[in-house]
Amino acid sequence: MRLCCLARGMRVNRPSRESKLDQAIVIEDLGYAYGIQAALQNVSLELTAGRFTALLGPNGAGKSTLVALMTGLYVPQSGRIEIFGHDIARDPLSALATTGVVFQQQTLDLDLTVRQNMTYYAALQGLAGQQAQQQISAALARMGLAGREREKARSLNGGHRRRLEIARVLIHEPRFLLLDEPTAGLDLTARSELVAHVHGLCDDAGVTTLWATHLVEEIAPDDDVAILHGGRLRATGKLASLLSNAGQPDVAALFADLTKGAAA
Ligand code: ADP
Ligand code: MG
Repeated sequence: MRLCCLARGMRVNRPSRESKLDQAIVIEDLGYAYGIQAALQNVSLELTAGRFTALLGPNGAGKSTLVALMTGLYVPQSGRIEIFGHDIARDPLSALATTGVVFQQQTLDLDLTVRQNMTYYAALQGLAGQQAQQQISAALARMGLAGREREKARSLNGGHRRRLEIARVLIHEPRFLLLDEPTAGLDLTARSELVAHVHGLCDDAGVTTLWATHLVEEIAPDDDVAILHGGRLRATGKLASLLSNAGQPDVAALFADLTKGAAA
């Protein structure tokens, strides 16, 4: 499994009102509750441009709620989110124009071919014609799906279907990629390949990535990681630094330590 990223430091939990060049995403004091059930509390996080950040948390930690807030599906009840200098609440179109999202639930049309799925999605983005087709070809090649255009999505295995979903959101060349448990249901090989492909997008194309997962094996020492439990961030930073600071041997031990006991 290829798991490497540029070794740049991650600055977290020190949000600023001023956008700095290497801070792609700024989340400040975010809060959200479903009725009286708090899902996120005082979440502050900064993502460095071009880095792979794993949002690691057990089921119910609040990962999908954070994704929903970062994509404008939900409105924060407190705090704010800025994507490349654009506040989602005040300027959602500009913020989301640079964002590609792959949700937890798969949304392909299995009866369409690979290229038809891409073309349909491009049309929803207002892209059509020769240029759109070129961008589709480039996105498919980027995710290792060149030559599969005429196959029905149904005939792809789970890993390739996920890659197609990622290729689809690459059509409009996002600078920020947000993936919610993209490896759910995949076998070990498919998971490793998907993680490697997305790391390639960070390394080669400088795409800032937030990868939500509950699987510690998907995180490499050089990755940035934000550990979420019970709606609160428990640790943020480069994994290798977190391990040495906490005196833990590996990410599994660190995760177990930070997520033991009641969530509240
Ligand atoms: P994760 O994606 O990490 O599994 P979620 O964001 O889905 O976590 O859920 C965070 C918390 O919010 C959980 O306690 C969950 O039960 C609750 N929750 C999520 N969605 C809803 C909803 N639509 N209505 C009520 N509670 C919800
Ligand atoms: Mg979820």
